Amino acid sequence: MVMKMSKEVRGVYFHLDAQVYDSPRKIQDIENIFKELSELGITLIFPLAKNTRSQVYYPSRFLKNRVFKNINFLDTVTRIAHEYNMEVHPQYCVFSHGEDFMKNHPEWAFTDRSGVKKNFVCPSSIEAREFEKDIVREIIDNYDIDGISLDYIRSPHGVCYCEKCTSKFKSLTGIDPNKIEDWGDEMYGWWEWQRLQITNFVDEIGEIVHEKNLKLSAYVWTTSARWDVIQDWPAWVRRKLLDFIIPTGYVYSLDMFSKIVREDLIVVRNIIPMYICIGVRTSHGFIENAFKVMQYIDIVRRYGLPGYVFFSLPGLLPLINDLKNII
Ligand SMILES: [Zn+2]
Repeated sequence: MVMKMSKEVRGVYFHLDAQVYDSPRKIQDIENIFKELSELGITLIFPLAKNTRSQVYYPSRFLKNRVFKNINFLDTVTRIAHEYNMEVHPQYCVFSHGEDFMKNHPEWAFTDRSGVKKNFVCPSSIEAREFEKDIVREIIDNYDIDGISLDYIRSPHGVCYCEKCTSKFKSLTGIDPNKIEDWGDEMYGWWEWQRLQITNFVDEIGEIVHEKNLKLSAYVWTTSARWDVIQDWPAWVRRKLLDFIIPTGYVYSLDMFSKIVREDLIVVRNIIPMYICIGVRTSHGFIENAFKVMQYIDIVRRYGLPGYVFFSLPGLLPLINDLKNII
């Protein structure tokens, strides 16, 4: 008798082309996609709820620019996914926003040291944080989902030098960040304070999500993310702010992929489940065929990870027929 192993978690970022699927007549096609995903043993999906350009995938009170206008995308995929016993964790791109949105909220802008405002909101802005939390609440309150999955929960690069950040830090420490030139204790303290803004925000969203007994997860960069984009996810893991984590695996060399898995595991250990993201097709590259995808999955299994998440659906679809026979 074969010992029953605990089920491998297989996720997919559920992105669909609005130009093709934005019609009630296409819902059968979406159903068919789920049938294929269930044959592949997919156990959870991450449908986009808000993207990096402030567009939403459901009718929102707060953001009016909808990607799918003729169907409620989030509601449709949530319903079908549950028919297939898949968990639904809407993907929420947090700090990244569209140009129009930022024009309406210039005071919320993440600002680099030279004063350039980015299409990102500043993580220390209380108003911006409240706005983002309202959207999270809206999704949680209106959809029968299993969790929220954060993305773009980071800076665009480096730290924010907006008036709010610099004055808050100055009143706290007496140090004006604009006057710190060299790398040392003061600069370290400034960066650490910035990381804490994002970490505290993850904590705040966690309170909202956990109050409803839902799970919180996040897509994160590699272990150097706390330096690149002030994303201190090792701290989020240690403090158990997340229920599971999806570190990036967007590399197109098996050696590099193994290295990332090893380094992430040193940080994550068994504190929370880690499902590495396999970049079937991303802005960084793509994996050519199902057999190559299996080589990535073999590495995930060799290191004893409980699962993996494919990015994203359009890249995965052409490979499913081959992949379902060998996975
Ligand atoms: Zn700022």
